Amino acid sequence: MPDREQLKKRVSQDVEGRRAELIELSLRLHANPEVAFKEEKASAWLSDYLESNGFSLERGICDIPTAFRASYGSGAPRVALLAEYDALPGVGHGCGHNIIGAASCAAGLAARTVVEETGGTVLVIGTPAEEAAGGKVYMASRGAFEGLDCAMLAHPGNRDVAVSYALACLELDVEFHGKAAHAAARPEAGVNALDAMVAAFVNIGLLRQQLKDSARVHGIITDGGQAVNVIPHHTAASLLLRAEEDQYLDEEVKPKVLACFQGAAEATAAALEYRWGEQSRYKAMRTNRTLAAAYQANVERLGRKVMDAESRRSMGSTDMGNVSALVPAIHPTIAIAPPHVPIHTVDFREFAAGESGHKGLLDSARALAMTAVDVLLDSDLRNRMWNEFHAGG
Ligand SMILES: [Zn+2]
Ligand SMILES: [Zn+2]
Repeated sequence: MPDREQLKKRVSQDVEGRRAELIELSLRLHANPEVAFKEEKASAWLSDYLESNGFSLERGICDIPTAFRASYGSGAPRVALLAEYDALPGVGHGCGHNIIGAASCAAGLAARTVVEETGGTVLVIGTPAEEAAGGKVYMASRGAFEGLDCAMLAHPGNRDVAVSYALACLELDVEFHGKAAHAAARPEAGVNALDAMVAAFVNIGLLRQQLKDSARVHGIITDGGQAVNVIPHHTAASLLLRAEEDQYLDEEVKPKVLACFQGAAEATAAALEYRWGEQSRYKAMRTNRTLAAAYQANVERLGRKVMDAESRRSMGSTDMGNVSALVPAIHPTIAIAPPHVPIHTVDFREFAAGESGHKGLLDSARALAMTAVDVLLDSDLRNRMWNEFHAGG
């Protein structure tokens, strides 16, 4: 059996040896931001880089032109690094996906150097459109993550975290249909669709007290009427419902929010129409604690101190949740900015192209590559990961 420490040293050196080209790649992605499903340059640069280093490439998988699967080696175990590379409209790489793209490729290339000795396969899977449509939701439903032993990516952030939380998230679109009338001359002849919408939002405001702390219901009114002197005959709104557990979302939040709209319809006599966005639903992130502990040990070797898992429960949502429902997965955060600089901001974007961003790229690539070594080498670790997964951990 190859020596684990030797292999970890080797993957770490492989990443270090690519320092200049990795930073150049990250900066090139950063300077050419492409939004969801338009990541043509990014997916080409990343997949070409992997291909030129010996990986087999499948481009355009799952009918998404900017998705790809790169693999090296054969058979089990199969360790996957997931690469995100989409940018935010208007903000560019304010979420630092340029670093994820470069780091996941770097970790895959480094792990490649050990696969001959450990056996198994290392994959880098290009997953577009994290910010908008949830590319991994679509890819998960088309089998992109089947047969893996684990899936990993490290996300830039303002703290070092190994165990991340992300909420299940479901979209709800609603409309009320009423009856127009002159708002002053004949108001009694109308059915006010805006009253129904306002009543529903008030109901939701009251409902919040009866929901778990981690649940979220938030929305915007996208049509509130057309003219101030006309009783609105039509209104529309979009909402997102979120919860820390998928089951709580389904069994508690969904029916109670729907009842808020149904009650408003009853009270105002406006007709309710609604659609759940189940196709684009984000599942709750189930971080695999066993795998996260391996990652934490590796990233702490690099001098980083990972925060206590319970002290910060992040409340966003990510399409990585849908991957974590299928295979043991981690979505740790690597700090590249101070705690007061949140992601999705212009300030964070600048960190993603600065010295601390470069350090985050190299450290996360090394930590992920060392974790890949652990998974490839250690069948006991794999068993514990899967036992936890099957226990619903
Ligand atoms: Zn983001
Ligand atoms: Zn992101």
